Amino acid sequence: MTREPLERGISVDPGTVAEAGLLRSGTGASGRGVRATVLIGVTGLALAWPFLSDFTVSLFATIALYAIVTAGLVLMTGVAGMTSFGQAAFVGLGSYATAWVCTSPVATAALGAWVAPGLLPWIGLLLGAGLTFAVSWGLGAVTLRLSGHYLPLCTIAWGLSLYFLFGNLAFLGGHTGITGLPALTLFGFSMASPRALGVLAWVVLLIVLWGLSNLLDSREGRAVRALKSSRIMAESMGIDTARSRIKAFVLAGLLAAISGWLYAHLQRFVNPTPFNLNIGIEYLFMAVVGGAGHLWGAVLGATLITLLKQRLQDWLPQLLGASGNFEVIAFGLLMLFVLQRFPEGLWPSLASRWHRWLGAPRLSPREAMSKPADADTHPQPRGFMAPAGISIAETRSQAQLLKASQVTRRFGGLLANDSVSITVCAGEVHALIGPNGAGKSTFFNLISGVDQPSSGEVQLMGQSMTGRPARDFARLGLGRTFQHVRLLNQRTVLENVAMGAYRTGQAGWLKSILRLDRREEAELLAEAQRQLERCALTAYAGASAGALSLGQQRIVEIARALAGKPRLLLLDEPAAGLRHLEKQTLARLLGQLRAEGLGILVVEHDMDFVMNLADRITVLNFGSVIASGTPAEVQTSPAVLDAYLGGVIEPEVIERS
Ligand code: ADP
Ligand code: MG
Repeated sequence: MTREPLERGISVDPGTVAEAGLLRSGTGASGRGVRATVLIGVTGLALAWPFLSDFTVSLFATIALYAIVTAGLVLMTGVAGMTSFGQAAFVGLGSYATAWVCTSPVATAALGAWVAPGLLPWIGLLLGAGLTFAVSWGLGAVTLRLSGHYLPLCTIAWGLSLYFLFGNLAFLGGHTGITGLPALTLFGFSMASPRALGVLAWVVLLIVLWGLSNLLDSREGRAVRALKSSRIMAESMGIDTARSRIKAFVLAGLLAAISGWLYAHLQRFVNPTPFNLNIGIEYLFMAVVGGAGHLWGAVLGATLITLLKQRLQDWLPQLLGASGNFEVIAFGLLMLFVLQRFPEGLWPSLASRWHRWLGAPRLSPREAMSKPADADTHPQPRGFMAPAGISIAETRSQAQLLKASQVTRRFGGLLANDSVSITVCAGEVHALIGPNGAGKSTFFNLISGVDQPSSGEVQLMGQSMTGRPARDFARLGLGRTFQHVRLLNQRTVLENVAMGAYRTGQAGWLKSILRLDRREEAELLAEAQRQLERCALTAYAGASAGALSLGQQRIVEIARALAGKPRLLLLDEPAAGLRHLEKQTLARLLGQLRAEGLGILVVEHDMDFVMNLADRITVLNFGSVIASGTPAEVQTSPAVLDAYLGGVIEPEVIERS
């Protein structure tokens, strides 16, 4: 049914690319012991390779081919959160492209004059990659706009379409397929035997894992990680999430096509069967069982499923005394079991268990927090620090950063914001207050590009922002935090803060994959580290963000916003959930930032906090501005006292000012 391992010739040795960098899978669960184990495993396979039976060699070659596709799925589905059932179709594109180039009379006649026969498969690779690039970009542009269940459904639709296309095109041999593919030759070596091609497949797999792990360990990798759970946050950091999604999708497609190309030259014939929807589901199954968020999970999943399928295909018919695809039923049950017991897949559990056997327990986030690895090199500051070299008096100015004029937002018949006008200047803290449902969050969305006003205009740094996305606001110097904290809980505090520095970097996907971004990456991380120091969070740099208290997470969000070097900061309820002392430190930090010349617009319910900090206050009620002025003016406004019914603004606060 699927790719059957072939039994053919002999020679060579895989896995020479197993350099240390490759084993940094970019995921938390792989400690040093696990890396060593993987290295030993790959070296062991390389050493044993010449002595393995032809059958075993074919099986391992198939595993590598599966794992290349699955690694792409780990990036796309596990990390970026886009489920695809259709990867087998891209494998098919890669296979059919090379099969056609190498065997069709049209292609060989056209190319024969200026290309040696040995180069035809490489032309096939280029064609397959080009086709896959075009098709996946096109499909991605259409389908990736969809969310929820629609995206996976669409992948099923085009997975099926391409499969039937392969089977129904006469020049691709219909359902019988294409036979007589030549063997690959590389630097004059023939790869006719599965033993030789298997080496190539493993080398390609290891290079793919190395590249993907580099990617995940970079600025663009952090952007990809944010796609799954926090697209609004990512856009607010200046990340073009639609582009990131398409790139992840295209990269996964290209890896599938490369696997297909290798597969075609391993089998030396192609037919539509291995590119069926079933197999597309099987790839996804491998990723999920292995651990969809972990690159080495792809190898584990591909190995387990391939070996298991092999065994079950032999055993089950014998056991049950009848022939049939019983392994499919067994897989279904296995999937249920794995998802129940190991929702993250097997790799993370195995990795941490293995680590425990090796006698070096991994620090839990809380332990990691109490034992900061860099406590000696980075003494923790007592309070918030001003960045070096900034003179407070010099940077203070009154430039207008934000100007919202007559901004209105309707939700059906509801006027959530009714002609709201506000300005925020450099070097001031402007507070936006009002009872629940007054329209504060709606207004925040309008002035940060998350939502568009029904009428009225928002100007940022003097530019009209009508119709522009959140990332443009970020590029112009807007930093923000969220009422409901949006951090990547599994990632470290340092990585989360570095995400804020995204738009200050340049390195793209290719540079990141090839690890040519190290200088810039070091700068971004150093900037994140500086912001952590400034916010007195250095001790938590290595802890998972999810392990921090809500108050600390809010400060991490501020540090993340600061890492983007903003001129204007929007803070949505920064003091909510903070303890008294934390509020005091937060107020000190905001005072410090104001002194450095930042403009700050803050929505906050804690009146004590607001009244003591803000230079100006605007009060919203039922979507309209009912008062605006200094804290003293606002507190004595009858409209404000009326709106709050004397409940929230406590008399003592009013008296104090
Ligand atoms: P606040 O942040 O001041 O508590 P919001 O801005 O969240 O208030 O809400 C203002 C009003 O707009 C509320 O009545 C809310 O129900 C309504 N609203 C907010 N967002 C939406 C939306 N996406 N669709 C419909 N109504 C909304
Ligand atoms: Mg709100």
